[in-house]
Parts: sequence; structure tokens; C-alpha cells
Amino acid sequence: MKLRKISLFSFIAFFTFIQFDGLGQDKPYVLLVSFDGFRHDYVEKYNLPNFKKFIQQGSAAKSLVPSFPSKTFPNHYTLVTGLYPGNHGLIANTFFAPERKTTYGTRDRSSVEDPYYYGGTPLWQLTRENGLKSASYFWVGSEAPIKGHFPDFYYIYDGRVPNNSRIDQVKTWLELPSEERPHFISLYFSLVDTQGHRTGPNSKELQNTVIEADSILGYLMETLDQIDLPVNTILVSDHGMINVNTLDVIDAKAIAKEIPGSATMIKDKIISFVYLPQNEVESTYQRIKALENNFRVFKKGELPKKWHYNENDRIGDLVLLANPGYAFRPEKVKEEITGEHGYDPYTTTEMHGIFYANGPNIKKGKELKSIENVHVFPLVTKILGFENPPIDGKFSKVKKIYKK
Ligand code: AMP
Ligand code: ZN
Ligand code: ZN
Repeated sequence: MKLRKISLFSFIAFFTFIQFDGLGQDKPYVLLVSFDGFRHDYVEKYNLPNFKKFIQQGSAAKSLVPSFPSKTFPNHYTLVTGLYPGNHGLIANTFFAPERKTTYGTRDRSSVEDPYYYGGTPLWQLTRENGLKSASYFWVGSEAPIKGHFPDFYYIYDGRVPNNSRIDQVKTWLELPSEERPHFISLYFSLVDTQGHRTGPNSKELQNTVIEADSILGYLMETLDQIDLPVNTILVSDHGMINVNTLDVIDAKAIAKEIPGSATMIKDKIISFVYLPQNEVESTYQRIKALENNFRVFKKGELPKKWHYNENDRIGDLVLLANPGYAFRPEKVKEEITGEHGYDPYTTTEMHGIFYANGPNIKKGKELKSIENVHVFPLVTKILGFENPPIDGKFSKVKKIYKK
């Protein structure tokens, strides 16, 4: 009896040795895919067969609630850090850093590549800390040496790279020898956001674009089928999109007149920040408040708690936010229907994105209610077997779909 026990033990030990040989050979893989600006209802609204098939094979959330503000850079970085933008520091697509008196901008390569702006521990870095490789076919934050390192494989952002070539590269990575093969991979597509801005979420042109996104997903699924590895695929988006009539403008010129010359203002169509000398905060706030019409102005410390935004100095002294469907514009334009995002994700459901997942560590046929995007990170770390650094996300929010 005793002997049998020992041999069973050695059998298990041997088996475990083969499964997890220290090189991470057969540990699970996670492919995190973002379709920028893919609204939560597009799959049903436009009846997309590959998305439906993907969901059937796995699980879904009713929607993925972006963090505030519902913009591309803060939310992509939230997805890979599990932190709200107010806590990871990339508080908007463009903002001022008062501690250093410098401006971050998505098109300014020197700021995009500067690790100074990026807090938290992104998944590529955490993967490295756990002794495994990571790769990124584009993602916000992947082009800066955060905590001293880049992903093992990454590219400088270039939206012209054909979408299917990005998928071919993911396949190449997954075919590398096991010691080289990345266990965490991010993959990004911008087409749905771009078209959503041009013609709005209800247009024929947007419909054609999401159908194109559906074929991209079809190609990704076909490609992954050729790979015999335990790959979990998590499909997300950073936010949704809402129709904007370009005539629904908020007079940005009238507001600018009330900003003193001593201030720094970072302007955007949907969210703007004003950085003031302390003795000018209250009077400037009162003057802008008097103009409030289809937008709201907040003082630092008085923004809604749910936004987790009050503590960060990068938000400035005043935050101006357009109401849904409105935009700050310096002058009248010709009438057009376009699409925008950036609004309050908690009160504007059009801002909600997608969360669909399948693979060996995802249960089949489960549906989560709407979840905040900070909870994606702890699902990824659970699958990869990593301890979480301090984060805002909670595994309990996604536990229902996780399979050991
Ligand atoms: P927005 O709609 O302004 O919030 O931003 C969407 C745009 O961000 C996309 O159309 C991309 O061109 C751009 N973008 C996405 N990821 C990156 C990146 N890693 N580096 C530079 N630009 C990016
Ligand atoms: Zn976006
Ligand atoms: Zn956008």
C-alpha cells in the first residue's frame, strides 16, 4: 500500500514536471485584444457572426464600463494595470503634469515614450517579473520603458500596418521555441473607433466597418485554431461612441475669455483641464460656472467619487466636461453627424465597451453583468498564475467565468 502511494506520488511529480518545467511551456497564455471604440451593442445591432461564435464558445459581460474619462489612452492603460486613470496617472489623452510643467500628448512621441507618465505595473512588466516573456502588437504604454523595461517584443505605433499582418505576427510569436514564446500578448485594432468618429455609431459606413472587424476576428480565430497551445483570448474595447451633431457646440471661445493669463489650459472637444494659481481658482470657477450650458465645470476635490479622479494633481484645478452629444468648439461648423466619446461612463451607457472571453480557463455560456474595466487585469493575472500588485480591480467581479 505504502509503495503504491509512493509510486503514485512520483507519477504525479513527474507529470507536474512535464507540465510546468520552469520554462512555462504549458502554462496558459493570454491574448488581450482591443477593438478601439467598439460599443457594447454592436454585435447584436449589426448581427456579427464571428463575434457571436466567439461568445458562444466562451463567456461575456453585458458591457465593459470604461473608467473616467472614456478616452482611449487612459482606458487602454487601465486595462493593463487594473488601476483607475486617477491612480495610474495617464488621466486623459492630453494633460499637463504640474510637478514637471510638461504636457503629455498622444502624438508627441517624446511624452508617449517617457515612463515618467505611467504609474502601476503593466501586464508586460508583471509577466517579466514572473519570469515569462511578453509581446505587444500595439498598446498604450508598450512603447515606454516602464519600471525600466519594454515588453520582450513590441512595435512603435503605426496605424497603417494591415490588421491581418498583426495577427500573422501573433502566430509567429506563438510558434517560437518555448523559452522565447510570450505568455502575455496584447493586440490592438483602431478601425472601429476611426469610422465611429467620422460618421457616428448609427451610420451605414460604421456598419461596414464593424463587419470588417468581424472578419478580422474570424481570421484571428482561424489562426489560433492552427496553434496547439492553451491560449485564452480576451476581447475588449476601451469605450463606445455616441452620435454628435456638429452644430451642438459649446462656445469654447466664450469660456477661454474667462481663463486668466496666469493659467494653463489643456483643451479637448469633450474634457478640458485648467491649472491655476491658488488665489484665482474660486473666481475663475464662478465665472465659468455662470456660463454652464450643455457642459459642467468641477473643482478638484468635488468631482463624483465614482470617477476616482479627485486626488491626481494632473487634473488641474478645474475640469470641464461636455454633456453627452455636445462638444467644445471654437467656432460654428457645417452640420454633420459624427461620433464622440469621453463622457461620463456611469451615466452614458453609449460609452460602454465590450468584454468577451474564451479559452481553456474560461467557462462556457456564462454572462456577467456590466463590469468596470479595472477588473480585467485580475482575470489575466489569475489565468497566468501571478500575484496582483496593488490594484483597483477585483477578481471576485469576474470569478464566475474563470475555470481552473
Ligand atoms: P481617441 O479617439 O482620440 O481617444 O484615440 C484613438 C486613436 O488613438 C486611434 O485612432 C489611434 O490612432 C490612436 N492610438 C491608439 N493607440 C496608440 C498608440 N499606442 N500610440 C499612438 N496612438 C495610438
Ligand atoms: Zn478609443
Ligand atoms: Zn476615439
